Amino acid sequence: MDRRTFLSLSALAGAGAAIAPQAAISAVKSRPGMKNDTTPIATRQLGLTGMEIPILSMGVMRADNPAVVRAAYNAGLTHFDTAHGYQNGKNEEMLGTFFKGRDRSTFTIATKGKADPRSDNFEQDYATLFDTSLRRLQMDYVDIFYFHAADDVETLSNPRLLALLKKFKDSGKARHIGFSTHAHKPAQIDEAIASGVFEVCLVSYNFKLNILPELNAAIRRGVKAGMGFVAMKTMVGGAEDAEGNRRVNGASCLRWVWQNPDITTAIPGFTSFDLLDNCLEAAHSPVLMPADAEYIAALQTRPMLFCQNCGNCIDQCARRLPIPAIMRAYMYNFGYRHPALSKETLTELALTGNECAGCRACTVDCPSGFKVAEKIAAITPIVNVPSCYLT
Ligand code: SF4
Ligand code: SF4
Repeated sequence: MDRRTFLSLSALAGAGAAIAPQAAISAVKSRPGMKNDTTPIATRQLGLTGMEIPILSMGVMRADNPAVVRAAYNAGLTHFDTAHGYQNGKNEEMLGTFFKGRDRSTFTIATKGKADPRSDNFEQDYATLFDTSLRRLQMDYVDIFYFHAADDVETLSNPRLLALLKKFKDSGKARHIGFSTHAHKPAQIDEAIASGVFEVCLVSYNFKLNILPELNAAIRRGVKAGMGFVAMKTMVGGAEDAEGNRRVNGASCLRWVWQNPDITTAIPGFTSFDLLDNCLEAAHSPVLMPADAEYIAALQTRPMLFCQNCGNCIDQCARRLPIPAIMRAYMYNFGYRHPALSKETLTELALTGNECAGCRACTVDCPSGFKVAEKIAAITPIVNVPSCYLT
């Protein structure tokens, strides 16, 4: 999308059309102790799940301070997103401790888990994983259970996966079933619609996506079929530049996301009170203003940190390295400032920290302008740093 198209789209939405047209929009109910109870946050329906949640939710992934969760909850956020793997389970445990004894009708929880449906013990392993998550959360059920990070289209139609996910729902342990994807391929959404099992999709969604028109069209098809859409990676990596030096204005990024009424909520991963305040500022004033649009249009021309996951680099690479995932790990470290998550991502890929050694010249030409060999050299050595030194 070029700058002119972007600005004209923004102008269309900026007059208030962005937030108003969704049929079921209302204001989040206040609760005792709520910080901003006089300026309610808009809510939207999540597909046909019956869940009505504020347009701002909390991606808990990197948060390790329960006081930030408390502040978000007291400010009126009701939806909290975690995963089995985040912080080796401590993230789910923190939420479990925080929500223990609280009125279950005042919040909703999503967690995610990944397993290979082609593996011999898939059913048993995946059920054990899910039960472990529930135990850590100290809950009988989660509101959404996502199949975590679906990389391809085929997995979403795997009969063993679909049968087990249905079983999770029938057991009452998962009220709704979803999938998350970093690949953000429209074909995945179409496959999920066809399956009849997936009710929610957690998708990377930001102004940097090269395939935005195609993705928006697929999301529209999903909404028509009754699916709900939750946006992640809304901060485009958290930094304005490819090196991670200048922090991005999160409020503008969120306002841009909320222009699309098909996106129910965004789950930025704020870890501090300042970042929460920045997100709340946007949630209480969610319409994209000309200054936001100008700011975002200016960022369109910069490489930033968000990898498109187009996959073009893999065939170009002499060693067929999993470059998109390595770029994500780079973003986690230099954008999110979360080296432990970066190491976790690279360790899953079984990297050694010396991937490009001996390669005379990099043959990869990334359409996003990433100098991939430099980034790989900068981030992969983290796999050899003892975890006790990483946060
Ligand atoms: S070519 Fe560039 S944008 Fe595309 S997946 Fe590779 S690193 Fe990411
Ligand atoms: S330098 Fe690294 S990324 Fe580039 S072609 Fe060689 S192995 Fe692949």
